[in-house]
Amino acid sequence: MELIMLGGNILTMDGKRTRARALAVKDNKITAIGNNNEIANMANGKTKFVHLRGRTVTPGFIDPHNHFSMTVFEPVSVDSRTPPLKDKKAVLDAISTTASATPKGKWIWGQAYDTRVFKEVEPLTCWELDEAAPNNPVCIMDASYHALYANTAAMAIAGITKDSPDPYKGTIVKNKKGEPTGYLHERAMDSIHKITMRSLIDFHGEEIVGDLVRQNALMHLSHGVTSIGDAQTMPESAELYRLADSQGKLPICVRQLRGGETFFGIPDKVAAGEYDNDNVSDRLRGGTMKIFMDPVFPEFGFFKCHHDGSISPEGEIYYEQDEVDKLVLDATNNGLQVAIHCIGNRSIEQAINAFERAINEVPNADKLRLRLDHFMFPTQEQIQRAADLPIIISHQSAFLYNIGDVFEAGVKKYGIDAPAQPMADMVSAGATIAAGSDFPCASVAPIDGIAAAASRRHVSGRQIEPDQAISAEEAISHYTNGSSFAIFRDDEVGSLEVGKRADMVVLSHDPTESHVDHIKDITVEQTYVDGKLAYSKSA
Ligand SMILES: [Zn+2]
Repeated sequence: MELIMLGGNILTMDGKRTRARALAVKDNKITAIGNNNEIANMANGKTKFVHLRGRTVTPGFIDPHNHFSMTVFEPVSVDSRTPPLKDKKAVLDAISTTASATPKGKWIWGQAYDTRVFKEVEPLTCWELDEAAPNNPVCIMDASYHALYANTAAMAIAGITKDSPDPYKGTIVKNKKGEPTGYLHERAMDSIHKITMRSLIDFHGEEIVGDLVRQNALMHLSHGVTSIGDAQTMPESAELYRLADSQGKLPICVRQLRGGETFFGIPDKVAAGEYDNDNVSDRLRGGTMKIFMDPVFPEFGFFKCHHDGSISPEGEIYYEQDEVDKLVLDATNNGLQVAIHCIGNRSIEQAINAFERAINEVPNADKLRLRLDHFMFPTQEQIQRAADLPIIISHQSAFLYNIGDVFEAGVKKYGIDAPAQPMADMVSAGATIAAGSDFPCASVAPIDGIAAAASRRHVSGRQIEPDQAISAEEAISHYTNGSSFAIFRDDEVGSLEVGKRADMVVLSHDPTESHVDHIKDITVEQTYVDGKLAYSKSA
């Protein structure tokens, strides 16, 4: 026996949610689970013991909606996050400091400038960025990751001028003189985002890029995350993963959700084997297509529900119903899982309609684990429809903590008959549920998501629709069992059962026994991947 854990509070998260005291690992897999005596008797001279002393063990957390590849270059980017930076001047100072130490012409990338939280903060302009970094192209991501701020040099490289028309489903924000301000919304940001990634890969080279991927994976492991789905895998993202995997620097499992490109050529792409190539190794797999259905700018796709029972469309949607249907039919006909980013009740309706049609018309579409990602503002009817179909709701509860107040306002504004992120309603409707982070848009730590799902506590301290709270055990099951199903790894991970991979997290306290307001203080003490210690807080 390679490893034996004794004296723990092991939440196996199997079908019966069994608890155990001890487990044994051999050849990367769990070989026995039970009480201390029977497991201790399996030891031999080579066995390594872990004495848990009552600490809690869960399966490794699985985050099926994460933007890992967007954060790989964070250690070599300027930190422009607000908070911790307190205003625009502080951000521009940080960019200026970075620029003065950056070779001329090298791209400067920054993360998460947040005009939502600091509503008084104006968008950055290209002219301000030019002043802060006169010799470099600059790309600063908005905290929504649905917009970015570019300087003049960056726009010149991407060919964005005052004569550029808005691309399909994107806006090049212009001033009164018709000049682009550098603020690029939705699909208008794609070219600069891609060029920035490309230039950073080329500048740093394969070795350092591999190290950066590994460093990001280790950060995830420190939060107990052992598998992810990258919810917007661009060709450059796929390259990052391949590089790291080939160098043995990918210590977590990744499912690649292809997105961000034009989707309408799916049959051609499948015929060309493009998606097959995403199945690279045991750790790195593909087979999922991601579709964006509603933008953040100017507003998600909503139906406003009026007092007389009528509804009116509001906000924006990316596609008409027949277009969504075509995308989903094409993808499912080619055996691809589809994950639809749907936030407002109007885009949720479109997504459910398209999934229902595919399930009725395409053989085996019911086995493709079609995913409704976000599902922030469903109606009661939509919750039940989603629960009754063989599809998955993939939610991100940590958003409640940051922007639960915005959700509340949205429900009221549009007259929706269900609260936002109605986790309790989803559970009682019998939905198949997975949970993730949407990192870096919300906290990467599953403990934060579990805490938010159980407490419904907003950062202000107020509870947002406390009736929709779910138990910590239920929330953990979404982050483990449910999410393993969403990334097609339920036969390997997601619960601690004999024969499964020994991906495990040791927690300081048991979330199911903690007061809901103390769950967020629980720390990850150790993370194991394939039975080997991959992170230790004390190390
Ligand atoms: Zn996302």
